Amino acid sequence: MNSTNPWQRALLQLKTAAKQLKLDPLRLAQLSNPDRVIEVSLPIKLDNGEIKVFQGYRVQHNNIRGPYKGGLRYHQNVNMDEVKALAYWMTIKNAVIDVPFGGGKGGITVDPKTLSEKELEGLTKLFTQKISDIIGPDKDIPAPDVNTNPKIMGWIVDEYSQIVGVDSPAVVTGKPLDKGGSEGRAEAAGLGGVFCLLAALKKLGINPQGMTVAIQGFGNVGSFLAKFLQKEGFSIVALADSKGGIYIPDGIKDLDEVERCKKQTGLLAGCYCIGSVCDLKNKKKLDGKNISSESVLELPVDIVVPAALENVITYKNAPKIKAGIILEMANGPTTMEADKILNRRKILVIPDVLANSGGVVVSFFEWYQNLHDKAWSKDKVFSKLKEKMEKATDLVFSTADKYKNSLREAAYLVALERIVNKSYEKA
Ligand code: NAD
Repeated sequence: MNSTNPWQRALLQLKTAAKQLKLDPLRLAQLSNPDRVIEVSLPIKLDNGEIKVFQGYRVQHNNIRGPYKGGLRYHQNVNMDEVKALAYWMTIKNAVIDVPFGGGKGGITVDPKTLSEKELEGLTKLFTQKISDIIGPDKDIPAPDVNTNPKIMGWIVDEYSQIVGVDSPAVVTGKPLDKGGSEGRAEAAGLGGVFCLLAALKKLGINPQGMTVAIQGFGNVGSFLAKFLQKEGFSIVALADSKGGIYIPDGIKDLDEVERCKKQTGLLAGCYCIGSVCDLKNKKKLDGKNISSESVLELPVDIVVPAALENVITYKNAPKIKAGIILEMANGPTTMEADKILNRRKILVIPDVLANSGGVVVSFFEWYQNLHDKAWSKDKVFSKLKEKMEKATDLVFSTADKYKNSLREAAYLVALERIVNKSYEKA
């Protein structure tokens, strides 16, 4: 098996859990094959008059428990196998966290940073036209993922509503508030990760105060996670994104300043010093340093958080990880070989399908509010999110105890049992 092919990895994870659960072979066949895969060509005219053709994908993995649901990713490495795996993980995640959705995912093979806003809007609207037959509030509901955001979701609502002739905010989640978005959706995945981690530490009898954390990825998920963790008393000592990162053993105190600096300069490297933006290289006395995007995972910290892309923890760096806990906020960050090494080394891995499910929980709340014409307060959203994350974390821990499994294996067992029984809770 090619361990970095996420779809092959997903299939192997499924096979292992199915064996333990003695899953009916027909169910296994259903889950081993997505219901539908779609690939569309997207020719657009760039601002300079040049014609460029992009490829877009939507995979509808499974809708046994409800409409397909999952994000849209814009990235130069998006390909069908990646989207298939991400769609499958959504089926599992939605069942673990118990929202009434199946799994889907989509994306376009594009580096959106190379396009103007007008080009990106045109590309998004063309993609919406090409998949408009298969999406819809009770069919398939996309959401933001890597390099997509509320503005892009807003363009999809506009285009889809125009195509079907009625205002249809519930066709996507993660929209801007003025287009029917939910309070708390932007923070949801990061905050959900914090609720999950706190519930896990409580189970383990560990006091979180002062625990050190290194985070790879400082986008939607990583930045909110960092801020909420800091509020809870964790010390964020390292941050990295695609262009490198910063490490301050005493803790990065002003995360807003780092964010502002990143927006201004496009780089995290050199984005920290107390109270102002300055270059770490000139501030040796802070005892901080610039680090690479990869080395952030190997720092001497209590908790490491991959919050960027898949396959970043492999057999090569798993033996070098010093943290005792890995909180998987990215989807599929750990290869199977790495997983085995981490298990052997007794490093606790809180799996993606549990840890990052806060995003889809609040997506569910958003969809529910759209369909019932409601607008919940942020406090209500956060308290319902907390309840969901704690409940799922407790169940995954007790399942792991019962079957003497890893948390990942336990999460798959919880999900598959729910898929087989088609059960879910009401909002
Ligand atoms: P984003 O586009 O907002 O941010 C991605 C971050 O990853 C950026 O800081 C980018 O610089 C960084 N990055 C990219 N390549 C990197 C590399 N090679 N090394 C280090 N950093 C790199 O995306 P996001 O929404 O924050 O998503 C991050 C991860 O979380 C993805 O795996 C996504 O599938 C997952 N996720 C997102 C949500 C959500 O609601 N947005 C929910 C659940 C899971």
